[in-house]
Amino acid sequence: MFLSKKVGFQRKVNILFIMIKENIKKILISTDNNISIVAATKTRSVDEIKQAVAAGIKIIGENYVQEAKKKYESLKGLTQIHLIGHLQKNKVRKAVEIFDMIQTLDSYELAQTIDAESARINKIMPVLIEINSARELQKNGVFGEDLEQFVSNLLEFKNIELMGIMTMGPLDENLENLRKIFKITKNYFDMIAKVYSGLNSWRYLSMGMSNSYNVAIEEGANMIRPGTIIFGER
Ligand SMILES: *Cc1c(COP(=O)(O)O)cnc(C)c1O
Repeated sequence: MFLSKKVGFQRKVNILFIMIKENIKKILISTDNNISIVAATKTRSVDEIKQAVAAGIKIIGENYVQEAKKKYESLKGLTQIHLIGHLQKNKVRKAVEIFDMIQTLDSYELAQTIDAESARINKIMPVLIEINSARELQKNGVFGEDLEQFVSNLLEFKNIELMGIMTMGPLDENLENLRKIFKITKNYFDMIAKVYSGLNSWRYLSMGMSNSYNVAIEEGANMIRPGTIIFGER
């Protein structure tokens, strides 16, 4: 009895692993080489993530410092790890140790802390600025009209490498409304590239999740963050 239950479980796991690999194959085939794919891995196990890495995923995105820290020992060296969830100041010390990029820089105070903690361990921390592109009150992120001033304020930080923009977009929005929001975000991305033409690190526009990454790519995203479409429903 026990044994057969166990066999059933193992079989489910194998099917899940095969599914993950097939899903990634489909995404890799259908997207251009210059699109960076960040697999969103919140709630996923180290074993699931390792399957994704074996199938060609080079970057994963975690939402919580605590959760990422638990997975870190098993994953370091295998994949880049980006922070794609909100960062609290009291978690910055740990965050700069484990993440290869922080995609959610959204305030000057947070930048100050990231800069100081990165300097402490001699690291130049790659970051993306999170834009609240749909101007939702409950969401984190910088408003587009404040972006130019925000970037200007960040240039003083020696241990932060400003690499671009990330945006979430409203979750329940229809695709055509999302498209408008992605378009606006791309315009802000281009505006900074133009105004700060000496900012050579400026290159990533991270937008689009499972249901929206195709539209995001059409509107200029070069970094996407699919989760469900790789690993199944959470
Ligand atoms: C969860 C999450 C994703 C992936 O969402 P899916 O709908 O599962 O593709 C992408 N980006 C962020 C910031 C997330 O929190």
